[in-house]
Amino acid sequence: METQINGIAASDGVGIAPAYLLTKPNLSFEKYHISDPDSEKARLHRAFEKIIQKLKETKKKLVDKLNAEDLTIFDTHIAILNDPEMIKQVENRITNQRLNAESAFAEVITKMIKTLQAMTGNEYMQERASDFQNIQDQVLAELEEKKLPNLRELDHPVIVVAHSIGPADTSQMDGRFVKGIITDLGGRTSHAAIMARSLQIPAIVGCNDITKKVQNGQRVIVDGFEGSAIVEPSTNDVKQYQKIADKFMNVRQQWKKMINQPSATADGQRYKISANIGSSVDISSAIENGADGVGLFRTEFLYMKSDHLPTEEEQFNAYRRAVEQLNGKRLVVRTLDIGGDKPLQFMPLPKEMNPFLGYRAIRIALDQPEMFRTQLRALLRASEFGKINIMFPMITTLEELRAAKKIYYEEQQKLAVDHPGIGRDVHLGIMIEVPLAALNADRLAAEVDFFSIGTNDLIQYCFAADRGNDSVSYLYQPLNPTFLKLIKHIIDAGHAHDTTVAMCGEMAGDRYALPLLIGMGLDVYSMSASSILRTRSMMKQLDSKKCQKLYQQAVTTCDSMTGVKKLVQDWLVAN
Ligand code: PEP
Ligand code: MG
Repeated sequence: METQINGIAASDGVGIAPAYLLTKPNLSFEKYHISDPDSEKARLHRAFEKIIQKLKETKKKLVDKLNAEDLTIFDTHIAILNDPEMIKQVENRITNQRLNAESAFAEVITKMIKTLQAMTGNEYMQERASDFQNIQDQVLAELEEKKLPNLRELDHPVIVVAHSIGPADTSQMDGRFVKGIITDLGGRTSHAAIMARSLQIPAIVGCNDITKKVQNGQRVIVDGFEGSAIVEPSTNDVKQYQKIADKFMNVRQQWKKMINQPSATADGQRYKISANIGSSVDISSAIENGADGVGLFRTEFLYMKSDHLPTEEEQFNAYRRAVEQLNGKRLVVRTLDIGGDKPLQFMPLPKEMNPFLGYRAIRIALDQPEMFRTQLRALLRASEFGKINIMFPMITTLEELRAAKKIYYEEQQKLAVDHPGIGRDVHLGIMIEVPLAALNADRLAAEVDFFSIGTNDLIQYCFAADRGNDSVSYLYQPLNPTFLKLIKHIIDAGHAHDTTVAMCGEMAGDRYALPLLIGMGLDVYSMSASSILRTRSMMKQLDSKKCQKLYQQAVTTCDSMTGVKKLVQDWLVAN
């Protein structure tokens, strides 16, 4: 009988195939006392070593397939296994209580998982909990010499159904056979979702107990657009969904034709569609998707994955590599946006009650200028090898901007002694992601070359709603008419001073926001590489004058986000 399942839409597309349950073997174990703690500790370390080795090997194999953000997942898992505090606690149980390795390890890791799970509403912590769970399975399987399911053995199309999916699973997925993914756990930013999007596999996550409702081999339809699935669908459903799947395949093919096309509207207005990247590895995907440049290089990953403060030379090499690959296109680099919930291995940051309102980004840079100066020097030196723009994150006041610029010019002048004219083509800009900066855009615009609107943070601060907290996710409202007016205010203020206005938050790649942003006159749209061609292709269908009218209509006649969305949806159908 047909069963309908609802979850969270995580990766676009439709997949139809028999279910393949990614269920684990029984990993229960005996608790017993050992007589030789040293050999038991050695057994534990052998298991850790083997897993670390496997993780390193898979990461190496996937370096060209996944982007930097996805690859850091492997480092996270390796870091868990190398965590000295965890190792000490497990070893203490083996030595002092003479526990076998399985029990000692399980006791410690279960405690950690429970602590993380208790932080409900914190998506980041929930994801860390599933990382720990994944590691627990791997270690127990290794100690017990049991085999975890292996997707590499697949030789026919399937829909993978799992409780959760970790990097070890996704790394084994072959796009020829995995036609869809459904999981019990996870949100839009969980590992399963991120991986599915980068591998372009239709996926829905957060379905609660799908693993209990589906049996191996049952036919399943995954609808990654709507976030639903049908188990044992009718022939009619299969026909309908097959049509949607075919249509989407064709659309994707059409998008590919836009790679070398200009980013322009039907009436010939030119814009720029750029990519957001996390490291120089992502540049290939930006180029493959025809990006007009890089609109946001999030440099924090460079710092987060390192066990020491990246040196000027290391940073210079990374920025130079990135800008050289861009072959004359512009690279916008954001200076370190660390703090809040983004930790550093080499520099413990204070625990804070409200990390998003705390010690982060430019606030740290101005408080610890040496770290900031090193980054600016590396960037200035790299600017001799291509077009680099530098932008400061989280600017709130004019004083902060002036202080950051002062440090920048001091470093430029020092370097100019040996490199005359260094930085002459560097444009300086700021992220507009704090409401006060948005309101003060007019004064700020007079002192920078460009703005980049960070809607992810600007929305969380304007609506006072934590961007990672599911229970207030209804307040993520990029199409709210009052918010739209604020965006228009920023754009107008920028233009009054000849300041280019870009957007690099998620809103820039939102299909319903696009006609409104064109209507407001936004210059640059920076988004994840996989959204570029879809956006360019949509832009080509739009008329900028009509978009202006649409924007006016939205802010004068609608009083809610739902109203604006409905207006845009109807308008798109009519135009
Ligand atoms: C933003 O806040 O919109 C943004 C682009 O920065 P991040 O998501 O890295 O905070
Ligand atoms: Mg931000």
